[in-house]
Amino acid sequence: MAAPIRVSPGRNHGIGGWGDALDALKDYFAILTRKKPARHWWARHIPAGLPELGVEEERLWEAHARAMRELSSAWKRGVIPPVGRGPSLLDLKVELSRRLLENCRMCERRCGVNRWEGERGYCGVGPVSRVASEFLHLGEESELVPSHTIFFSGCTFRCVYCQNWDIAMDPRTGNPADPHLLASAIYRGRRQGSRNVNFVGGNPDPNLHTILSTIALLGEEAKYLPMVWNSNMFTSSEAMALLDGVMDIYLGDFRYGNDQCARKYSDVTSYTAVVTRNFLQAFRAGEIMLRQLLLPGHLECCTKPIMRWVAENIPSVYFNLMFQYRPEYRAPLYPELNRRPSPEEREEAVTYALSLGLELWD
Ligand code: SF4
Repeated sequence: MAAPIRVSPGRNHGIGGWGDALDALKDYFAILTRKKPARHWWARHIPAGLPELGVEEERLWEAHARAMRELSSAWKRGVIPPVGRGPSLLDLKVELSRRLLENCRMCERRCGVNRWEGERGYCGVGPVSRVASEFLHLGEESELVPSHTIFFSGCTFRCVYCQNWDIAMDPRTGNPADPHLLASAIYRGRRQGSRNVNFVGGNPDPNLHTILSTIALLGEEAKYLPMVWNSNMFTSSEAMALLDGVMDIYLGDFRYGNDQCARKYSDVTSYTAVVTRNFLQAFRAGEIMLRQLLLPGHLECCTKPIMRWVAENIPSVYFNLMFQYRPEYRAPLYPELNRRPSPEEREEAVTYALSLGLELWD
């Protein structure tokens, strides 16, 4: 029988209380209460195992696999090694993320374009990321706020109901992102009371190199500052490997329970295979806050299959059932999406969650 997971049925997400989420977010709370440094702090202490990083990509990946084993062992023992000489595992991750841009494999669209040379793939994001805005967000899940949310321009999906379409659909919006300036902004946010740094967009995937370069610049002041990957979870397997050991929370959308709906509304293929693979990987690598946005008319084809998969595969995660869908962007062109979920649909979603043994709190 599936272990209980949690569902927050409120109109806005994030109404689960601090105590309710303790089990699902054990490491996160240990970091917040300074019992354990954030994962990126460990990665900067583990040696890359190479004297320099200007070698072929295959050798970098081999070194990454070895260093990740070291990190995993150190994390389990709870002992951080002293900073060694030469590049760290975090430096190695930055280098590998930059290599991914040469033949872009940041997400599972795998466009294969050389973004360093100005080629653009599906997302249209260039070599220099752009930030549309960054601020202390008070509207995220209650466990996260105030969350220093950094909104990158551009996205790897084309959701017809996108709520952030102005920045997601135009990768040219915002200002060029300089990792040094972003690191300063993160310190400023920390002094203003941020509990974490939340990388989002659009979608963060095309900006992984900027994100890792920024994190690598952070020092002692960020030792107990958790990192949050706020994504559509269509991240490539290579990018997921680089996030492992850096991200503390995967704040991931699980939107569709089948590939047809994903294709029709977000222009994406192989959705369920990629997203389930990535949630399983995130489950091994860190802690998950899973968001399921109830779409009108999509209870049977999407919400219920997703709930079943979660209950069977990653039952102890923080599960946020979200009811705030409203028709935006091009949704009026799709009559079935041109309304809010009905009270009956909301009630049935909650009843179904309970029938699976999911735990409900608000
Ligand atoms: S991030 Fe994804 S969509 Fe954008 S260019 Fe790279 S592979 Fe293509």
